[in-house]
Amino acid sequence: MSQILIRNATIVAMDSSHGAAPFAGDILIEGETIKAIGEALSAGPDARIIEGRGKLAMPGLVNAHTHSSETFLRGRYERMPLEIWLLYAYPLLMNDPIGERLLYLRSLLLAMESLRTGVTTFCDDFFDPPRHDLDRLATVFRAYDDAGIRANVSSAVMNVHTLDALPFSREVMPAELQALLDFGPPMTASAYIDYCRSAFSSLHGKSGRLHFMIAPSAPQRCSPDLMAACMDLAVEKHVPFHTHILETKTQAVTGHRLHGKSLIAYMHDLGLLKRNTTIAHSVWVSDEDMRLMGEAGASVAHNAVSNLKLGAGIAPIRRLLDAGVTIGLGTDGVSSNDTSRIFDVMRVAGLVHSAAGPDYESWLAADEILAMATIGGAKTALLEQVTGSIEVGKSADLLILDLRNYPFMPLNNVAKHLVYSENGSSIETVMVAGRIVMENGYLTTVDEQAVFDEIAELVPAYLAEHAELERRNSTFEPVMAEIHRRATRIDIGLNRYQGDGAGRHLQS
Ligand SMILES: [Zn+2]
Repeated sequence: MSQILIRNATIVAMDSSHGAAPFAGDILIEGETIKAIGEALSAGPDARIIEGRGKLAMPGLVNAHTHSSETFLRGRYERMPLEIWLLYAYPLLMNDPIGERLLYLRSLLLAMESLRTGVTTFCDDFFDPPRHDLDRLATVFRAYDDAGIRANVSSAVMNVHTLDALPFSREVMPAELQALLDFGPPMTASAYIDYCRSAFSSLHGKSGRLHFMIAPSAPQRCSPDLMAACMDLAVEKHVPFHTHILETKTQAVTGHRLHGKSLIAYMHDLGLLKRNTTIAHSVWVSDEDMRLMGEAGASVAHNAVSNLKLGAGIAPIRRLLDAGVTIGLGTDGVSSNDTSRIFDVMRVAGLVHSAAGPDYESWLAADEILAMATIGGAKTALLEQVTGSIEVGKSADLLILDLRNYPFMPLNNVAKHLVYSENGSSIETVMVAGRIVMENGYLTTVDEQAVFDEIAELVPAYLAEHAELERRNSTFEPVMAEIHRRATRIDIGLNRYQGDGAGRHLQS
């Protein structure tokens, strides 16, 4: 079996005994797996030796939440809250789905950028309306297989009418606009579960690195029977029930208007908070919500950059941690973030929580943020047995960074450099399951220039069609703006625009 020996490196293992504390040593990789960690390890005569002196070996980063469907919409929007931005990034009135070749390139581009910037695993909440098509899902899997990344991929589902998932919508939207949104009968629970079962039998486990996960979009967008069936299947297959909860103030108001309680309490009452539950955002949660989430062993994907871009607010991460919730970091899609770099999310998470209040001892520490970006993210993906730390027996998903580079010059504290100084520019080598997928500044699995050429040739026509679609959907913007304004004015006893610091300070 092929061997790689990394010698004399500085290692940040993120395992339970070392955490983010660096130590010097060797790492022996055999096939896909980390075989040994220690000093002066020996390897077979054919082993490839990587000299680690002056280098940092660390676990590959985990992007706990993204949407490949947004990859061609980077750098396109600004100054829009979620409810407005959705109109343009996920238009209500749709064209035909993106063509097969562009679908492949769009997925591939996300995987390429992710690997180059140190993300070895991502959770792609793939959204491909109006249908669930196994051939198209297979195209996404093929792109990730070709790039060499590890991924959880969903086929996101919703089956509640848009207007029934938003507060005030029927009051605010003129009848002639409402009539445009009649798209026929919604997806049934049994049809979606049948689809998921065929995805499990044909795609799940592909190459050992690619998994299917279950992703009901959000509790206000899915019927209770659909979510219950999704949870049963997620538990049966040991995959995440990956969903969005309480990203915006509008969604916080939605729970109270629809069910007389928060959407987290609603999920709890339906028996849908479990270890398998991974919640993107969790910005507008109450103390009681956090208690329920922690008790259930649920996880949160914290999308610090996206939440700022869309004006959603600041998730109460310290209090979620205190409640026992597992936290990973996500970029969210490339349209609400504009990059797929987890290093950026680490830095923003390291900075933004100190704006949340004066109680500086509760601000997040670099070690904690590094844990969220690695082992925490792996837990949110139910992959903590496989990846997220450098440990014997785990898959060799790791990065080698050059410490003789600006972000580390001079070296003080590795974790703090990684969170506050590094942006991915020091990454020399990226390995997924023992395979070197990036080396000397280039991906080894994909001809990057050829992909860029093809994107430059094919994508402008797609974006021209998308611009026309934006124009058609803009008729809904005044309505969405009014819903956003009304929700903003309702007092639900939380102010997440400024995070959790003020409330915490008052309590202590
Ligand atoms: Zn999302």
